[in-house]
Amino acid sequence: MIVGFSNESNEKLGALCRYCKNRLKSVTSAMDKLKFYFAFLLVFTFSSSALTQRIPHTEKYIAPWSCDILITGGTVVTMDSGRRVIENGAVAIKGDKIVAVGPAAVVTKNLTAKRTINARGKVIIPGLINTHTHVPMSLFRGISDDLDLNDWLTRYIFPAEAKNVDEKFVRAGTRLGLAEMIRGGTTTYCDMYYFEDAIADETKKAGVRGVLGETIIKFPVADNKSPEDALAYTEKFIKKWKNDPLIVPAAAPHAPYTLETATLKAIRAQSDRLDSAVVIHVAETKKERDDIFALYGKTPAAYLDSIGFLSNRTIAAHSVWLRPDEVDIYKKHGVGVAHNPTSNMKLASGVAPIPEMLAKDIAVGLGTDGAASNNDLDMWEEIDLAAKLHKLTSNDPKTLPAEMAFEMATIRGARALHLDDLIGSLEIGKRADIAIVDLDSLNQTPYFNIYSALVYTTKATDVRSVIINGRLVMLDRRLLTLNETAIKVDANRYREKIINSLKQ
Ligand SMILES: [Zn+2]
Repeated sequence: MIVGFSNESNEKLGALCRYCKNRLKSVTSAMDKLKFYFAFLLVFTFSSSALTQRIPHTEKYIAPWSCDILITGGTVVTMDSGRRVIENGAVAIKGDKIVAVGPAAVVTKNLTAKRTINARGKVIIPGLINTHTHVPMSLFRGISDDLDLNDWLTRYIFPAEAKNVDEKFVRAGTRLGLAEMIRGGTTTYCDMYYFEDAIADETKKAGVRGVLGETIIKFPVADNKSPEDALAYTEKFIKKWKNDPLIVPAAAPHAPYTLETATLKAIRAQSDRLDSAVVIHVAETKKERDDIFALYGKTPAAYLDSIGFLSNRTIAAHSVWLRPDEVDIYKKHGVGVAHNPTSNMKLASGVAPIPEMLAKDIAVGLGTDGAASNNDLDMWEEIDLAAKLHKLTSNDPKTLPAEMAFEMATIRGARALHLDDLIGSLEIGKRADIAIVDLDSLNQTPYFNIYSALVYTTKATDVRSVIINGRLVMLDRRLLTLNETAIKVDANRYREKIINSLKQ
């Protein structure tokens, strides 16, 4: 039987003379050989190109391959859809992407790495995602405490901002906040402030990923004197940063109570036109809910829905005073939520209906809010507090288990920022945003369950090394892209200036 020839052809072959038969046989056998070589070539080409793009899942022969950074020997908490946790695992990075995740013995087979990080005894996690902050406000850390939001804002924050915020202030505060976030293993943050273009510049220089929104608010502020000016600034800002590998530019309308309906509609139109994200505070306090209801006859999220503001590019911070029908409105539009347990507790704003949102699989991430109301940018505290706060208010210790709290700081947080195709888990093809965390500090010893250790015992000081977009930004607790000493000197200089400004 000659492969590739039909029976009919074989019969015809029988009718030919011996010479012709032999000629035909040699031709068909040459064709067989060609087919074999072609098939071999296909298999070889496929397997060698696949090596740099797919997990080497098997123990079979793997051709030599290379990567830029190899992290090996640690417990890999992938946060992928199967929630794989790999003991003695490894992650390989090439350029800005993850190219292999799996058992160390498999990933490292025939692998040459330009740089190897030994993570033995440590845990390798997706970088944490802080879904809501105002990074330059780190310079207002501790300016006033133990007040409700209204008093805190009108008596301290707004006057201090009016007298101190300029581009230099924003840059110094951003560097301070970025250094603190990197130290704690945060690799992506979502921001809302003024001079956001300067924030983007500092963030890019530090090598951190940011969804950065320029604040639009109805009264004059440091960089823009009207919502129209702020909208024009935002337009330029979004166009400038649109294709940056680290910066995701956004609009940041402050809140429904600090903007007119027409401005909110214009911001939605701009977001449609530029395909850009919109960051907003929604229903942070009971006062906001009551004021909006008195004005429009609707509660805040229902009001935003009624004017066509919400979309699957919206990132809504707080959402504390949401009714069940408003949770459904979020679900309908695919709104991402930034839950800020520390800030909500400290300002006594209330408890957001997070278990109700999670029951409907809404994308809820965690955020620190600004360091002025937290008073730090430590995501590990948010993870811990989110898990505990909702147990307390539901009177049920099974509410918001540890694994879910960690999910909110990683892959679900990525969903909240509408970036889950790029970040939030350790998977092949995703951006290499990774933190390497100790597992043997006193506060973690002994450890039995990885999610329990990550959620209830790990502190920001346990984070050892951080990689963002394939670039090392902290190695063995040494910051590589920011000058810690200079940052502290700048911050303390601003402390004096802020104290004097509030005396005037
Ligand atoms: Zn906020």
